[in-house]
Amino acid sequence: QWGALRQDLLNSVGQNNFKTWIEPIEFAELTEGVARFNVPTNFIGNYVTQNYGDLILHHLTKSGERVQRISFSVVANSPKTPPVALKSDASITNSSDKSSSVRDTAMTGAPLDSRFTFDRFVVGKPNELANAAARRVAEGGPVTFNPLFLYGGVGLGKTHLMHAIAWELQSHRPDLNVLYLSAEQFMYRFVQALRDRKMMDFKQLFRSVDILMVDDVQFIAGKDSTQEEFFHTFNALVDQNKQIIISADRAPGEIKDLEERIKSRLQCGLVVDLHPTDYELRLGILQSKVDAYRAQYPELQLQDGILEFLAHRISTNVRVLEGALTRLFAFASLVGREITMELTQDCLSDVLRASERKISVEEIQRKVAEHYNIRLSDMIGPKRVRTFARPRQVAMFLCKQLTSRSLPEIGRRFGGRDHTTVMHGVKRIEELRGQDGQIAEDLEMLRRALEA
Ligand code: ADP
Ligand code: MG
Repeated sequence: QWGALRQDLLNSVGQNNFKTWIEPIEFAELTEGVARFNVPTNFIGNYVTQNYGDLILHHLTKSGERVQRISFSVVANSPKTPPVALKSDASITNSSDKSSSVRDTAMTGAPLDSRFTFDRFVVGKPNELANAAARRVAEGGPVTFNPLFLYGGVGLGKTHLMHAIAWELQSHRPDLNVLYLSAEQFMYRFVQALRDRKMMDFKQLFRSVDILMVDDVQFIAGKDSTQEEFFHTFNALVDQNKQIIISADRAPGEIKDLEERIKSRLQCGLVVDLHPTDYELRLGILQSKVDAYRAQYPELQLQDGILEFLAHRISTNVRVLEGALTRLFAFASLVGREITMELTQDCLSDVLRASERKISVEEIQRKVAEHYNIRLSDMIGPKRVRTFARPRQVAMFLCKQLTSRSLPEIGRRFGGRDHTTVMHGVKRIEELRGQDGQIAEDLEMLRRALEA
């Protein structure tokens, strides 16, 4: 029935995760309430424990097995190596305890993720203001702006920053009562208090905190009585000069179905946005994750240029970027040799395909013509003078690099040129890139402008 369990897991985690994490593990035995699994590497074992331990246990229990605990042992491919049990946190117990990476906060807020601290938050241009503001409120000093409103697209670090504030305050100002929760949890608690006739307790709790953090506030839009209660809570705390920190996926004024009076309250303090990540920030994040990984698994070997490649190809959403890298780590732990560009492309082909922004030949031609200050018609036309020929080759080169068009297709779009002409152009630019600093710089600038 490992087969049935696998099917359940496949349904729960999706194909990609299944292939990376579940497929490599093998059921070994079930004795005295302990379900034992073999995993090929430590990294995979730890990851599965932390991320899917509860789920596996849940499915096992659901199927009627009497399982208290699951445990993973590393069984290397070589048959000579005896199984090695994973270290401490590598087994999951059937209790209501959350996995070890998530600890409960002292107060009754939502659990904080132990990885979401300031020292693990990589700062770059797109998030430096948000980071600075978050650090300021994390000092727990006198309230200077209220509320702090953080907004930005999904996966850009809002929750990370809020947890970081909570961790920081907990360690430096344990006297302060910090409450972190999502707007959804706020609503849930409110509804529960109504149902249990415990509104007094509810109000008491929320009015007695020193710092209130509400994540993803857009969730309460359109939910009238929750908004009402939120509004009162908010006002009561501001009146007492207590710090409030709010996050949302967009600016206050742009949240649909949010009461006007709440919008205007939310705008009263400091509103900062987390911009989409840029190349440098993505590279910084990848680098820091690799460093953290290497600290635990020093054997990781990545070919030069892979992180740069990923930073180029996977845009904006940090969660997706992290997910891709984690998969690459799993893969690396399995293959036990240097991870080359080819292996990377293989391992992450679906992610890379999905995040590929479609850049069109026309877009490239337009941008390049603009950059070199020539007319589009001259770029595509037959004239062979240097002033037109060089930009044309640059554009061809970029088409080859940034689109999935074939050489004949590219040729066709450059006034019906032959594919050998395109090939020659691409080669020429490749050569020049190594010799001519100006060309290298032009290419870099154009690529960035096109990928923005
Ligand atoms: P949001 O709440 O804005 O949707 P999260 O805070 O949940 O995004 O971030 C998504 C993931 O990306 C988390 O694992 C987080 O640690 C990571 N992340 C986001 N920004 C950064 C950053 N600047 N440095 C390091 N990790 C980051
Ligand atoms: Mg979030």
